[in-house]
Order: sequence, then C-alpha cells, then structure tokens
Amino acid sequence: VRLNGHAPAVLWYTGLSGSGKSTIANAVDRKLFERGCHTYLLDGDNVRHGLNKDLGFDDASRMENIRRITEVAKLFTDAGLIVGTAFISPFIADREQARAIAGAHFIEVFVDTPLEICEQRDPKGLYKKARAGDIPHFTGISSPYEAPKNAEIHLKTAEMSVEAAAEQVVAYLIQNHKLGSE
Ligand code: ADP
Repeated sequence: VRLNGHAPAVLWYTGLSGSGKSTIANAVDRKLFERGCHTYLLDGDNVRHGLNKDLGFDDASRMENIRRITEVAKLFTDAGLIVGTAFISPFIADREQARAIAGAHFIEVFVDTPLEICEQRDPKGLYKKARAGDIPHFTGISSPYEAPKNAEIHLKTAEMSVEAAAEQVVAYLIQNHKLGSE
C-alpha cells in the first residue's frame, strides 16, 4: 500500500560546496510537493545546528555527521517520505555506508559541477576564505572530493538550468516507479 501515493526514497545529493545541492534539492522538493508527495529535506541548516552541532570538520567528524544523517534519513523512509539530503559527503566509503543502511530506497544524485565553476559562484564566500587559508580541510581545496562512479542520477549543472536538473530528478523517480506519472 502506498499511503502517500508514492514510494519512500532517499535522494542523496553529493557534490562540492557551491555545486548546487541545496538549490536543486529545494527545486525538486517544490515539484514533489506540487505532486502531493510527502517530503523532507535534511541540510546543513537543520542538521549541523541541531543534531550534529557537537561535530567538527575533521575526517572522523565528517564520517559521524554522515552516519547520523543516514540514520535519520532511514527513519524518514520508514515513515514513508521522500527525503533529500544535501551534504558534500565527499567520501565514497561514507556514501556506500549510507547506501547499505538505506537499502533499496537509496538514490545517489551526483551534482557534478567543476571546481572552477563552484569557485566562481562562491555563493557563501567560502572558497575565498579557503584559498586564504582561513578554512582548514575545505573540500576541493585542502581536502579531497571522491566523485561517485555509478550515481543513479548524474547532473552536469554547468550545462543545465536548475529547473532542468530538478526535472531530471523527477523523471528518474517516475521511470523507477517511485512516483506515478499522472
Ligand atoms: P551547495 O548546496 O552545493 O553548496 P548551493 O545550492 O548553496 O550549493 O549554491 C549553488 C549556487 O549556484 C546557487 O547560488 C545557485 O543559484 C547557483 N547556480 C547557478 N547555476 C546553477 C545550476 N545550473 N544548478 C544549480 N545551481 C546553480
């Protein structure tokens, strides 16, 4: 039975800072809401300041950050929601752990934006600070980003609008029978 008229899913957005994870995840959320889907978006604003406010940005803390997010996402899917997670999540091992925990609901969304473009956008001025040496362990500058090799959804944002990227995610959900096509 599909209580909400759709299957549960975890849309796991991954990409560099400024790649467009939050922007695209919010656009997808709006489209799903318009279709009457029950959704929730986990992002830095509602996780880093609450559940994970005790964590820093060293490797062990990043791993624990992702582990907790994964467990919370799993709870949301148990409740039947389509949950989006918008975090850099730079390490393949962490994303594979998330995939193992979320099971068949897990959909990896690679927000693939070249570093040069992220740095040009620099929506929060973080690259400027990182280049100046003010932010240690900054992904793409002083900490690695391990790109997905087989993401279910691959968004090349340098070549597409936010709207087109969101459409691609919704189309994937329809094609994979998570949503009705109406
Ligand atoms: P992240 O959550 O990955 O750190 P944000 O979504 O906060 O990234 O920032 C991405 C920035 O890039 C936003 O200011 C957004 O408006 C801009 N942008 C420009 N073109 C695109 C695109 N095609 N897809 C996504 N974001 C884009």
